[in-house]
Amino acid sequence: MKVTPPGSTVGVLGSGQLGRMFALSARAMGYRVHTYSPEEDSPTGHVADVEVSAPYDDLDALRAFAQGVDVLTFEFENVPRAALDALDTLVPIRPGAEALFVSQNREREKEFLGEVNVPVAPWAMVRTSEDLASALSSVGAPAVLKTAAFGYDGKGQEKISLNEISAAERAWEALGRVPCVFESFVEFQREVSVIAARGSDGNVAFFPIFENEHSRHVLDVTRAPALLSPFEEKQACEITRTILDALSYVGVLCIELFHTSDGRLLVNEIAPRPHNSGHLTIDACVTSQFEQQLRAVCGLPLGSTELLRPAAMANLLGDLWAGGPPRWENACAVPGVALHLYGKKEPRPGRKMGHLTALAPTPQEARRRVLEARASLLR
Ligand code: AMP
Repeated sequence: MKVTPPGSTVGVLGSGQLGRMFALSARAMGYRVHTYSPEEDSPTGHVADVEVSAPYDDLDALRAFAQGVDVLTFEFENVPRAALDALDTLVPIRPGAEALFVSQNREREKEFLGEVNVPVAPWAMVRTSEDLASALSSVGAPAVLKTAAFGYDGKGQEKISLNEISAAERAWEALGRVPCVFESFVEFQREVSVIAARGSDGNVAFFPIFENEHSRHVLDVTRAPALLSPFEEKQACEITRTILDALSYVGVLCIELFHTSDGRLLVNEIAPRPHNSGHLTIDACVTSQFEQQLRAVCGLPLGSTELLRPAAMANLLGDLWAGGPPRWENACAVPGVALHLYGKKEPRPGRKMGHLTALAPTPQEARRRVLEARASLLR
C-alpha cells in the first residue's frame, strides 16, 4: 500500500468527538484534516482545517469532498454504505465499506461472527410475531431485544425478564415492531473491550485490554489493564485477530466482550473505529488509539501500544451541567488527572461532553482518583 505521508490531507466522515481526537493527532503529525457531516460548528470542525456541512446522501457534495483529500476514513458508524460506495473509486477509504456495513446492522454482525466461529450469546432474528414466539422458546428469558438497525449506547433495547409471550410482545411493541435481534441476557462478571489496529501489511497491534462499567447502557468508567488471566487475554486477542483478518481490515477496531460468570468470552459488538473505552490511551499509552488509526489509514508502521501506567477514564455527560457549569479547577487539582472536553455547546442529559483520565500505580487507584475528580466537579 502506498504511504500517505505527513503533509497530506485526511478526510473524516463524521464530526463528533472521535473525529476531533483523531484530527488533533493527525495535526500533531503534520497532516491536514477535512471533516464532512450534516453538522456545523462541530467538535471535529473546531480543530480541522476544513469543515464541510452537507447531508450524507448529497453525493455531489461527497464527491467534491473526496476529491479534496488523499485518504478517507470515518468516525461515525451510521454513514450510509451508498456514500462510501460512491467514493471508493475516487479515494482510498480505510477501513473499507465492508466492515462498516457489517457493524451497521446487528443481524449482519451476528451472522458474520457466526461465520467466522466467534462465540456470541444465543440469539434469534425477529421479524414477525411467529419469530418472536419461536425466539422465546429457543433462546428463552431473561433476554434483550435489540433493534437490528441503528442502535447504539443501549438505544433501541428492551429487556425481557419473564419467559412469557406477553412480556416479549410488550418489549417488541415498545421498539415499534421493527426487525430485532432477540439475544439471551448474559450474566457477566465484567465487560471488556479489545482495541486493536491492523496495518495494510496484515500486522496487528493490540492495546492493553480495557475493563468497562456501563451506567444506563452507556459507558461510564474504563480502567486498564483489565482483570483477565493471561489465557483469557490471549483468547480475547485471538478473537479480535480472527475478525480483523476476516474483514481484511486496515485501521483501528474495537470488540466489546462479555466475560461470563463461568469464564467464557462472548462478543457483544464490533465498532469499526476508535472507541470510547480507548480514550485513556491518549494519556496512558505510547501511541494513542487515534494516532494508531492515522498510522494504519496512512500506511505508516503501527506504533507501540505499551501502557505506560495503569489508568482509568470517566465519561463526562451533559447531566453534570444540571446545577451550572462544572468546577473544572477542582478536577484539575487531583494529582495525575487529565481533562478532555469536546467543545460541545449544549450539555444535554446523556450527551458525551468530555472525559477525565487518571494515571496511578494500580488500575483500582486510577479508578478511585478519576471518580474523585469527577465528583469534585459538583462541589
Ligand atoms: P450494546 O448497545 O449492545 O453495546 O449494549 C449496551 C450495554 O447493554 C452493554 O454494554 C451491556 O452492559 C448491556 N447489554 C447489552 N446486551 C446484553 C446482554 N445480552 N446481556 C446482558 N447485558 C447486555
